[in-house]
Amino acid sequence: MSEKEKTLSIIKPDAVERNLSEKIKSIFLQNNLSILESKKLHVSKDEAAEFYKVHQSKPFYDQLCGYLSSGPIEVLVLEGENAVLKNRELMGATDPKNAEEGTIRKLYGISIDKNSVHGSDSKDNASKEISFFFK
Ligand code: UDP
Ligand code: MG
Repeated sequence: MSEKEKTLSIIKPDAVERNLSEKIKSIFLQNNLSILESKKLHVSKDEAAEFYKVHQSKPFYDQLCGYLSSGPIEVLVLEGENAVLKNRELMGATDPKNAEEGTIRKLYGISIDKNSVHGSDSKDNASKEISFFFK
């Protein structure tokens, strides 16, 4: 039996700046993910570094934290059946060039760093990431 689960989505600065938030949210809603919480905020570079800690050894870490803190973002808690996987499918591949037709990153992503959305990659990470933004 399938169960409802929750996941975290972030609409990244490149997408907020281009006023794509409503379009992205409508993709979630059309695909049976409900939006339980949403807020717009602007994180500091230190907060971005904390959020992306799992990537601290990667060569792109500093740039990634600089980017996430470069402008307002919108964070969403999504809920639905298989929400973690479903959100990852709707997002598409990390690099928009490799993303499937119709996915958010294919539609709106600019580049591998400015790829419009973040999504939790497991149930465990989803609960950690949700508590990071919603205390
Ligand atoms: N990223 C990047 N360069 C890379 C790989 C990743 O700038 O070579 C960025 C990209 O914005 C990505 C984020 O780092 O969304 C986190 O990387 P991850 O591999 O977790 O990709 P995601 O889970 O977002 O698809
Ligand atoms: Mg990831």
